[in-house]
Amino acid sequence: RFAYVNGRFVRHGEAAVHIEDRGYQLADGVYEVWAVFDGKLADAEGHFARLWRSLDELRIAHPMSEAALTMVLREAVRRNKVREGLCYLQVTRGVARRDHAFPNPAVLPSVVVTARSLDRAASEAKAAQGASVISVQENRWGRCDIKSIGLLPNALAKQAARERGAIEAWFVDDMGLVTEGASSNAWIVDAEGALRTRDTNANILRGVTRYTLLDVIRESGMVINEKPFTIAEAQSAREAFITGAGSLVTPIVQVDGVKLGDGKPGPVAKRLRALYIERARQKAV
Ligand code: PLP
Repeated sequence: RFAYVNGRFVRHGEAAVHIEDRGYQLADGVYEVWAVFDGKLADAEGHFARLWRSLDELRIAHPMSEAALTMVLREAVRRNKVREGLCYLQVTRGVARRDHAFPNPAVLPSVVVTARSLDRAASEAKAAQGASVISVQENRWGRCDIKSIGLLPNALAKQAARERGAIEAWFVDDMGLVTEGASSNAWIVDAEGALRTRDTNANILRGVTRYTLLDVIRESGMVINEKPFTIAEAQSAREAFITGAGSLVTPIVQVDGVKLGDGKPGPVAKRLRALYIERARQKAV
């Protein structure tokens, strides 16, 4: 396996960044994850758009052009022989003597890219069964729209989920409303049959999978209500699912130990998963 580190591909096991990389010491960096279908990048544009925005919001220089970065990502996918899987990119503010404030003059950002294969047949089988989520209290910072590598609350939430046999943890805000998952956006088909997901004006990540799925939903004539929901609403919903580059569209059949309906993935979630994957495959570059 190979990883790209600051301008070159090296053996994955030997890939390293400096101990004073600000990503390592201060989580001063951002990342993106692309789903890979047939060796191609899914939702490429959307992930790039969000990457540039995350970097701009943090005043980290763009390490290279979109064209050049696309070539690096593709090369990482090719060298690792990934047909179905994920491609990860991380950009940090760079290496500098430890100081909370930015290095002055600025240093070159650090760039790391990895790619790995996934067993899509296994995830298809899992999706067909449906998964569980648990809820945790929202405890993240006020800029969750930036895809920061500072993921400690997300890691702790995910671990809590895993310890309870769930695949995801949903953060719940002070109003009792679900914000999003530790690494996915949250959706339900409510008791009235309406599709609901939280609007992105709130403090959540603007999921690229979420946006593509919204297009798919509108094109297929379904109605979407961008309105948040409570855990109780999710528990009495007809269906629930999560979206993300890793989970694609994964049906949720249990919320905090309460089964949704008959405890099986619902027709809307199943249909949206199929439609999303079809679209993503078609448009992958
Ligand atoms: N919300 C959070 C906190 C995430 O980390 C992610 C992705 O990993 C998502 C939502 C889903 O975003 P995307 O669909 O762009 O992968």
